[in-house]
Amino acid sequence: MMTYDNANIFAKILRGEIPCHKIYEDEHTLAFMDVMPMADGHCLVIPKAPSRGLLDADPTVLAKLMPIAQKVAKAAVTATGADGFQLRQYNEGAAGQTVFHLHFHILPMKDGVPLRPHTGKMADHAVLAEMAKRISAAL
Ligand code: 5GP
Repeated sequence: MMTYDNANIFAKILRGEIPCHKIYEDEHTLAFMDVMPMADGHCLVIPKAPSRGLLDADPTVLAKLMPIAQKVAKAAVTATGADGFQLRQYNEGAAGQTVFHLHFHILPMKDGVPLRPHTGKMADHAVLAEMAKRISAAL
């Protein structure tokens, strides 16, 4: 198993070294907008504790993370008027992981609207800021 590298981009976000469009934060968890959204309202929920993925995460960390993923998913669906959502989590490059700090993707989906490509196009920052505000308000 590869080890955790604290130079990854989400570790930098957690240390405040680079900005994010924040939706929710508590002692253990951070939720923020994905900058290359596969769907309107695509956001990420991450534990503050370091792990590359699901397999090296402490189960007590997962136990705190999942209720927040549920809460943020509910708010993202409400804020976007989605008909459903996907919860995705990639482990290692072979499975499509590109940032090696555990994260859940929340992907609000509307009937008949396909997802955009994974790590496709950067969204406009004003749009992401507005969406973060709307999801946050729906928490
Ligand atoms: P993974 O491919 O590891 O499952 O997901 C990483 C996600 O992080 C991708 O969906 C990608 O769009 C997103 N991402 C990459 N760099 C940044 C960044 O600097 N800030 C934010 N908010 N998201 C990022």
